[in-house]
Amino acid sequence: MGLKIYNSLSRQLEEFSPLTEGHVSMYSCGPTVYDYIHIGNARTALVTDIIRRYLTYKGYVVKLVQNLTDIDDKIIARAQTLGTSPIQLAQANGEAYFEDTQRLGIQPADVHPKATEHIPEMINLIQTLIDKGAAYIVDGSVYYRVNSFNEYGKLSRRKPEDLLAGARVEVDERKEDPRDFDMWKAAKPDEPYWDSPWGRGRPGWHIECSCMAMKHLGETIDIHAGGEDLLFPHHENEIAQSELATGKPFARYWVHVAFLKIDGARMGKSEKNFIFLRDALDKYPAEVIRHFLISAHYRHPLDYSLESLQKSESALKRLRNCLEALKKYEQETPEITDEHNSTSQDAAETDTHLLSAIKTMQAQFTDAMDTDFNTAQAMGSIFSLVSQVNRSLGTSNGISDQIFAQAYKVLSETCQVLGIYTMNAQDVAGTAEILNPLLELLLEIRQNARDQKDWDTSDKIRDQLKQLNIEIQDTHEGSTWKFLSL
Ligand code: AMP
Ligand code: ZN
Repeated sequence: MGLKIYNSLSRQLEEFSPLTEGHVSMYSCGPTVYDYIHIGNARTALVTDIIRRYLTYKGYVVKLVQNLTDIDDKIIARAQTLGTSPIQLAQANGEAYFEDTQRLGIQPADVHPKATEHIPEMINLIQTLIDKGAAYIVDGSVYYRVNSFNEYGKLSRRKPEDLLAGARVEVDERKEDPRDFDMWKAAKPDEPYWDSPWGRGRPGWHIECSCMAMKHLGETIDIHAGGEDLLFPHHENEIAQSELATGKPFARYWVHVAFLKIDGARMGKSEKNFIFLRDALDKYPAEVIRHFLISAHYRHPLDYSLESLQKSESALKRLRNCLEALKKYEQETPEITDEHNSTSQDAAETDTHLLSAIKTMQAQFTDAMDTDFNTAQAMGSIFSLVSQVNRSLGTSNGISDQIFAQAYKVLSETCQVLGIYTMNAQDVAGTAEILNPLLELLLEIRQNARDQKDWDTSDKIRDQLKQLNIEIQDTHEGSTWKFLSL
């Protein structure tokens, strides 16, 4: 059986077949960098990371593009509140995004395009749509004419009357139709702007993704991912813009990640019920958060709770203990046949059991991941092999070392796909348990040295930590530390 992906466009599980054999182009809507990311945002970023890891594991060459929306109403408003510039705010939060996701073991995309670095391309795309009669200019703003695209609503399956009745579109006298949306916003006083044929202004959010996806991946991309809140209007509008401009399908498989919830409600900035990923990472080991976030299939909502994190923590301990016990067999050549050289009848039977458990696990893991990336079931298959291995280790009387080596190989490879058991023991113990107190101690020693004007010691601590990618910042309230970005 090959890989099947649930496509939000057809609302069906579809056989996956990329446009170019052996290659996958994938675009994932990234953060709007007006603040740190919360663990809900992290769920979507992590699902993208795992899809990419699994496709790579299956032998595809994957190109992943994930944008940063670095100019937007929210960024401008937050910068005004903080008394900083939108560009500086976006720059700082962009760096924080890479820091936080790196700590969670999310591999960087191949390209992380920024909206502000693609203004000329966006202007060209908007001009193409104006030339095709799909857009109109009012007072220096440019609107997309929804009526010009007769497939509008095909992703969200909203009919024009639903769109009109239920749409969260603000009344704007300048629009021909309330469903129309802006692709270019005329500049308001004190806002960043770029010159364009229609006057000074800045791009709308939807055109950013259409433009950056097509620039870096071509007019038709294989997989487009994002959180479920983006399905309408963001992705519907991306389709309308891109397909009308090129006359080609924009994305072939649409993947939408269900919400991370807290106390039954969506975790979100506007709901004010969020937990920043970096705060969670200061309290819990990265692997624990990662395990928790993939403990449900991505299309099912997942509830955040302390009990769930504790469950993940004890599950990971079990996994790590098992792998540590198997590690010593790593050097053995793994045995994949049913033939082995056990010394006793008992051992031979246990061998056969373990060998068949390994094979079953491999089949179940692939089956789970091939069925729309079901990480919950994939994890289940890993843990059932862990139980089996623990039993065999306990009763080991001459089980062939090669079979343990095989179990180690299979377990560590599949864990790698999920991005667990990829970090070393210190990382797993987490910043809360080891790194935080250790750094607090170093900061205290450094402070004592500074009090005694022992600048050599204080500089040595700062410089050597910098080499470890940790920066000390001295403020009036004392010294703090942070990871440097990638
Ligand atoms: P934003 O910065 O709000 O544009 O969100 C960045 C990404 O996180 C988008 O793909 C959102 O759909 C996704 N997202 C936001 N909130 C949640 C949540 N509670 N659970 C899962 N994904 C989310
Ligand atoms: Zn987007």
